[in-house]
Amino acid sequence: MRTFVAGVIALLQGFLTTFSFFFKKKPTIAYPTIKKQHAPRFHGLHELRRYEDGKERCIGCELCAIACPANAITVIGAENAPDDRRSPGERYAARYEIDELRCIFCGLCEEACPTDAIVLTPRFEMSDYRRGSFVYAKDRLLVPPEAGVGRPPDERPNGIPADLGSVIEQKSTVDIETGYDATWRGGILKTDRKGLAG
Ligand code: SF4
Ligand code: SF4
Repeated sequence: MRTFVAGVIALLQGFLTTFSFFFKKKPTIAYPTIKKQHAPRFHGLHELRRYEDGKERCIGCELCAIACPANAITVIGAENAPDDRRSPGERYAARYEIDELRCIFCGLCEEACPTDAIVLTPRFEMSDYRRGSFVYAKDRLLVPPEAGVGRPPDERPNGIPADLGSVIEQKSTVDIETGYDATWRGGILKTDRKGLAG
């Protein structure tokens, strides 16, 4: 009889523990409908930015590739043609690729870039069946022409855009609660919270 009573008590204690969790805030989220909001400095997938006139910020200098500890970046620069200027500098990246499977998302490419061209976004989702699909080329990295930011250097008195360093500055000083207007393919994620809601 004592064993039976002890068993019932243990059972009730178990139910009570389960019941008590009914009213607690759930730590799980309904992914993928709702996605976790990351820390402001979260390092996710890359994007290559443009200036607001549509020119590419990347000048094909290869500093990001040199800084990359995972050897994940390939840049092949080419001279801008007078009648087809892709970037404000002499050169642009004719080929730019990042192997996202090699990448360790350290952010050194972002820090090394002199023109704030390559940035890491809060986006992290990538899946495919073939390794080759994770090599992101310009068709997937470069933001659309209408999504550029900042005036290009050849329109400025000293030839240096005023917004250089703003990405790193913003990420390193942002209040963690407030966050910042992170972008993805040129769209601002904070106002268009689809895919980032916490
Ligand atoms: S985040 Fe780091 S590992 Fe990834 S491409 Fe940039 S420098 Fe290389
Ligand atoms: S992304 Fe920046 S560092 Fe890399 S090649 Fe272009 S301009 Fe140079």
